[in-house]
Parts: sequence; structure tokens; C-alpha cells
Amino acid sequence: MSNIENITILGSTGSIGTQTLDVCRMHGIKPTVLCAAHSTELLEKQAREFKPATVCIYDESCYGDMKQRLADTDIKILCGMEGLCEAASIKTDAVVNSVVGMVGLKPTLAALDAGNKVALANKETLVTGGELVMKKAAENNLPILPIDSEHSAIFQSLMASGGSKIERILLTASGGPFFGYDTERLKTVTKEQALKHPNWDMGQKITTDSATLMNKGLELIEAVWLFSVKPCQVEINVHRQSILHSAVEFEDGSVIGQLGVPDMRIPIQFALTYPKRLPSAAKRLSLFDIGTLTFEKADENTFLCLKYARRALDMGGTACTVLNSANEAAVGAFLADRIPFYRIGELVACACENVKAHNSVTLDNILDSEQAAKEYVLAKV
Ligand code: MG
Repeated sequence: MSNIENITILGSTGSIGTQTLDVCRMHGIKPTVLCAAHSTELLEKQAREFKPATVCIYDESCYGDMKQRLADTDIKILCGMEGLCEAASIKTDAVVNSVVGMVGLKPTLAALDAGNKVALANKETLVTGGELVMKKAAENNLPILPIDSEHSAIFQSLMASGGSKIERILLTASGGPFFGYDTERLKTVTKEQALKHPNWDMGQKITTDSATLMNKGLELIEAVWLFSVKPCQVEINVHRQSILHSAVEFEDGSVIGQLGVPDMRIPIQFALTYPKRLPSAAKRLSLFDIGTLTFEKADENTFLCLKYARRALDMGGTACTVLNSANEAAVGAFLADRIPFYRIGELVACACENVKAHNSVTLDNILDSEQAAKEYVLAKV
């Protein structure tokens, strides 16, 4: 049995959300609150299967449809950002935050305010509000349990530390579909190529971010907040096989890492059952079949998003929000066929150079920088 009974899932119809529900089915965990952005049909299906007490649909224009779909049930229906924060505040054993984008920040803060433990898959929560979120979690004595495979691997590696100091984090990256490309070749890639990830099956936004290496940039920023390390202590290793999910080097030179097949259900389940390990349906790792594990440096001069992620971290304040928001706007334009792939990195770089960040990190300043970077990029696409 799992040590948790009830959970709330913010983003239950996405890739992480549906895999979290797989884990729920397997271990008899009850999702009592389910939230989706706009997929009313799938949310209805999930609500009928799991019978949560509450559902929330973020897109307010879908509220009427959702109400109609669940009219024969007594499920409470919330909507909008207010609804999402209310959903996150309902007392539960864990709030899984797997929404896409900066939308995830306020509900994370609301969950922590309500005394709920957060299992975090939403990158933007820490990228934009790392300072606020980690402070609030510490004040309320609540853990932030990482769901992302790399941070889960680091978290699991740290369980072997006995409290000793981290010397270095080895953050692994698949390198995405365009590893080894130079700037010129990057200009020729198509949307279809960008949306085909070699190892992981994920949503469109994160798949694009993996292709630009922004995903690794965001994970670098998250790692700095989650594990209280300096940016220079995080070394990015391109590891094409996605078998070593990240590792930690300690003071004595020992490197401890976590390996496994690339299957998100492993880190999702561990975030929910920590510190216990329960059986999983994931395939078993055969190192004989894999044969070779390779490690290479990432090319930050070609993959501008990664270069500027480091730069934003060094700048501090709301610079990481500028980076992230510019990226969200650029990726949105790319997915809407308004710009080619290589322009994402250029636009992020331009926004980071030209949009002024705030020095102090408050929710208002974060939202202001988000807006400023978004407007800057949208004016250029
Ligand atoms: Mg990851």
C-alpha cells in the first residue's frame, strides 16, 4: 500500500497527469480533485472513472460545457485561476502540479499556504518563483517533491548523502533531436522534426523545449533552487540514451546517480510514495541491451536558450521570468506556425538582452516581467 490516500492533480489531462492516474490505478490512490486547462471531454471521462469531489477547468469559456457534462453528478466544478488556487488549497496528502507554463506558480503557492505537500512537475513554478516558493515551503515545513526525471534522480541520489555536502550535480540531457547541429543546420529543421523526441513521450511545449535545450536550461534553474547549489556546481551532460537520469558528486569524490528506463511513471510514483518504493509496471533496465552509455558537452553557442538560461541565473531578480516568458511566447508562435524553429532561441536571447528585469522577486514583479517579455516577443513575431 501507498502511504498516501488522496491526491489533487492540477493538469490531469496532460502527459504527466494521465501517467499520474496510471500510478493511482495501480496503487489505489484516490484523486479527489482533478484540474485541466480545456480538455473537457477527457476531464469528464476521468471524473466518471475516479469520482473526485471537485474538478476545475482553467479555461473559463469551457465552464458551461463542463457543467453540462457533469450535470448528473454531484461533483463540484471550479474554473479559472481562482478555481485552480481553490483546488490547490483543498486539504490533501499531496498536490501534483503538472500544469503547463507560468499558470502553475500561483496554485503552488496556494497549496503550500494551505499546508499541502507539493509534487512538482511544473517547471515554471521554480524557474520564475523559486525564491518565493522555497521560502514558503521552508516556512511551512513542507517538502517540494520533484517529479521531473532529472530532479527525482538528484533527489534520490541525495538520499545516500547522510547530510554531506554536494560538490557537483551532473544534470543529464538527452540533447534532443538536433544534437550535433550547428547554427546553419538548425535553420533547416521542420516542426515535425522538432516534435519528435528520441526517448521521451511528452507534451508539445516540453518537446519543443527539449529540442531547443531550453528544457535543460529550465531544469538547471530548478536544480539551483531545489538543491541550494550555485549554478557553477551544475554540470550539464548530454547523455543520448536517457538511462542515467542525473547524479550527484559528494565531497569524497563519490558519484551517486539513478538509472532506469525512460518512463515517467517511475519518478511520478516515487514523488507520491517517498520515502517508500513500491512495485511499478515500468519496463526493467537491461544494461546488456543498452551496451554503451555516452556523455558529451552541450553546445551553448548553438543552443542559445541554454546559454541564456545560465545568464539569467547569474543576473538574478526576475531575469529567469523574462527568459521563461519570452520562451513561452516564442514556442507558442512556433507551434502556431508563425516562426521557424531557430527563431525561438534568437527571440529568447533578444528578450533577455532587452527586457529589463526587476531586482526584487515579488509576485507582482514576476507577473510584470512575464508580461513585458511576452509583449516584447509578440511584437516581433
Ligand atoms: Mg526532465
